[in-house]
Amino acid sequence: MSAIAETSRQGLFIGGEQVPSHSGRQTEILDPATNRVVATVSAGNREDVGAAVDAARRAFDSAAWREMDPAKRGRLLLAVAQQVRDHADELARLESLNVGKPLKEAKGDMYFVSRGFEYYAGLTDKIQGYTIPVPGARFDYTLREPLGVTAHIAPWNYPLLLACRGIAPALAAGNTVVLKPASLTPLTSLKFCELAQAAGLPPGVLNVVTGPGRELGDALAKHPGVDSVTFTGSTETGKELLRAVSDRVVPATMELGGKNTQIVLPDARLDRALAGILFGAFQNSGQMCWAGSRVLVHKDIAGPLLEKLREKVAALRVGPGLTEGTQMGPLVSRDHLGKVLAAIEEGKEKGAKLLTGGGRPSDPALQEGNFLQPTVFENPPETTQVAREEVFGPVLAVSEFENVDEAVALANQTPYGLSSGLWTQNLGQAHTLARRLQSGMVSVNEYPVTFPQVPFLGWKQSGLGQEQGIDAILFYTHVKNVLMNLE
Ligand code: NAP
Repeated sequence: MSAIAETSRQGLFIGGEQVPSHSGRQTEILDPATNRVVATVSAGNREDVGAAVDAARRAFDSAAWREMDPAKRGRLLLAVAQQVRDHADELARLESLNVGKPLKEAKGDMYFVSRGFEYYAGLTDKIQGYTIPVPGARFDYTLREPLGVTAHIAPWNYPLLLACRGIAPALAAGNTVVLKPASLTPLTSLKFCELAQAAGLPPGVLNVVTGPGRELGDALAKHPGVDSVTFTGSTETGKELLRAVSDRVVPATMELGGKNTQIVLPDARLDRALAGILFGAFQNSGQMCWAGSRVLVHKDIAGPLLEKLREKVAALRVGPGLTEGTQMGPLVSRDHLGKVLAAIEEGKEKGAKLLTGGGRPSDPALQEGNFLQPTVFENPPETTQVAREEVFGPVLAVSEFENVDEAVALANQTPYGLSSGLWTQNLGQAHTLARRLQSGMVSVNEYPVTFPQVPFLGWKQSGLGQEQGIDAILFYTHVKNVLMNLE
């Protein structure tokens, strides 16, 4: 637990060092398993945002960063990845403590962070332009140049992973970064800054300001020194941020909410589908943008699937993330627990049948924390939040369908379009359905799985732009066209 002692009082990370906030205020960081204070962190203000952007600008303009051989920049990112690997245990414990997720899941997050840096480290010297045929004695080519200072606003559910999902390609393309982590979960981002610095990242290339999103997010979006905004969070906040960013006409990537459907066809392998449904709905207590929180199962197999699902969900071990054997941790905060409980109550009131769960666990040891039973509703009315909206908790809605057209229509009726799952052994049907589903990602026979090299993106109100994969790095560059007359 040394990580807790180390982080008992944290400043902002600006220009390569921890500094106090101009506000003089602190935020208490709680353990969601007990609601006890585990650290205090500076609550920054607009002045701090200004200082961080200035530090990032100085670093961007410095020869040490701007003129660095791209291959050397790649080696630096590899060194960052190695630091994360070397400290994966400490980082994972900190993430588990702060978010509440099982340690095993937090370790998986840290592996993903280091893989992301390794992936983009390999792209630093492959950001290429074109030569373009033009008439006469002319020569035309394009350059891809870094944007400058990139702002990153991250949510609380995968704090370091989602922050680094944008930071790694931004740095790989030669930008500098100001990160604003979620107020509830800043601890791993602050620790990561120290590790990146130890890896050799020049001061000011990576800066972190902690504090209230409404003030700091707005300050970042409106700051004339910020050249792009990468946001991961709720659709509502994303829309607000887009309005602020639109005034300055800077590029923005929005990774927003989702209500994601998994369709189980009659020929699906039930054992595999059950494992994917459990993982998709209850990993990180269902606090996932791409949680597979809506399952549509063909009526011919609904009976056996529901019976096995009830048994497996009821047997999930709920407890603190850092306790050995925990399969599902608490929700991130009391406030969030209240919102999820309200959605469950609304489902019950509107006549949704509860298959299992539906309230707080009775274990006296879990009363101080934000624990909730993993919950499954059977055939909830389409008007309920659990059927239609993002609940962002361990709440699964299972409904039956008779034919695939009906299933596709139900899956596509949501205003979101992040991710869909398909369970079938008929690959022809899987390919056909994958084309009909209105979502940025479709997973067949596993859910949800991703890698740094594959795109992560939402359609409709789930987002704008793309994270991960080879194309994500292009977001962090400007195209410049150079046309020369050779006569
Ligand atoms: P959120 O409330 O929208 O907050 C996200 C971030 O935005 C936090 O850092 C927050 O700071 C900041 N923020 C709050 N108000 C702001 C404003 N007016 N302007 C600028 N920034 C502001 O979301 P959350 O509750 O942390 O995360 C859950 C949501 O994120 C869910 O909807 C989920 O689906 C979505 N999500 C999407 C993806 C994806 O890849 N598509 C991945 C993960 C999560 P404070 O913490 O200080 O309020």
